[in-house]
Amino acid sequence: MNLMKVSPSASMEITRLAAQMRKSGEEVFTLSIGDTHFSPPTAIRRRLEDLPLEYSHYTDGSGLIELREIIAGIYNGYDSSDVVIVPGLKQGLYCLMCVLPITNVLLLEPAWLGYHSITSLAGKQFTSLNLYDPDWISKLNQTSFEAIVLCHPNNPNGKLFSEKELLEILQIVQKNNAWLITDEIYDAYQYNNSGEISNIFEGYSRLIRCNGMSKSHAMTGFRIGYMLVKDKSLRNLMSIFNQNTITCTPAISQYLSLGYRESFPEISKFRDYYFENRSLVLEFFPEWSSYLPDGGFYFFVNLADYGIFDGDAFCRDCLKDAHVALVPGSAYGTGFDSWIRLSFSLDRTELRKALLALQNYLNENGR
Ligand code: PLP
Repeated sequence: MNLMKVSPSASMEITRLAAQMRKSGEEVFTLSIGDTHFSPPTAIRRRLEDLPLEYSHYTDGSGLIELREIIAGIYNGYDSSDVVIVPGLKQGLYCLMCVLPITNVLLLEPAWLGYHSITSLAGKQFTSLNLYDPDWISKLNQTSFEAIVLCHPNNPNGKLFSEKELLEILQIVQKNNAWLITDEIYDAYQYNNSGEISNIFEGYSRLIRCNGMSKSHAMTGFRIGYMLVKDKSLRNLMSIFNQNTITCTPAISQYLSLGYRESFPEISKFRDYYFENRSLVLEFFPEWSSYLPDGGFYFFVNLADYGIFDGDAFCRDCLKDAHVALVPGSAYGTGFDSWIRLSFSLDRTELRKALLALQNYLNENGR
């Protein structure tokens, strides 16, 4: 059974342990979870107060047409029929992996832990390439693959691919006639300039662009995401899969998301807040400047710099002794056993306290 090939989500597990400690009255700092501390923007919350009853029913399997129109309107060259609404991008990617007529997927590591599990659950194989290898692009050029996932900005290290890298990737993808899956779920949190997926990949018929409301609109609990799929036969397969598994994405979440575009000015303040948080992390850990993320809300750091080589043990002990929850790097691929991921998507006062606790802990336990 494919379930035998996957383990519990490392970030959810450590966050669960942290919640348990908090419940028993201890002060715990959760720097482990990929969630914002904000409430959804006003245009979403306003809708919650006056929910029309019609949204207590099924919708079309691919989503409300009004929502698909709003989303298509944000992207150049798409219309509503290209948009598939999904109950969270995680499920959307699982649906996609199940229906893609391929056996092998290429992942660029460090990679969000969901890709490994989803690919395995869907019965596909994955091959990995390490983004810290200076030759990763030429190695990619020598690898044959049927699909590749590109997370931009990348979770966990916040990397934004440069224009040159995106152009090279596109050439290699075209050579393989592969599916190009872009995960843009952190695109609202960009701090540096980079290559633009819209400008470079648009026009490639096997492109599948993925995004959602979870991170950008502080809506993780509403479970809503979307995928832009140009290939009609793939879209049909996804629709059949969804009709037979989830029926549709919850109508209420879709209705709330009609305020998606209207919220853009407000969510740009979320980004500005985390931009400041990113600087605060560097105030506590100036030695992390080489890990500065271009986007997203995580630092991905190699503790070997402190003479610490077992990230799993470090995260366990750090939670127990310093009450700071972090995610071990081993969850993000091969070769990251001494790394940790730290999330700075917290209220700043809380973040400050957490960073101080971590700083003290590292001073006591590091080299
Ligand atoms: N993609 C990446 C890179 C993520 O980090 C996450 C969540 O952490 C997701 C997709 C899934 O998001 P959701 O299922 O909440 O839409």
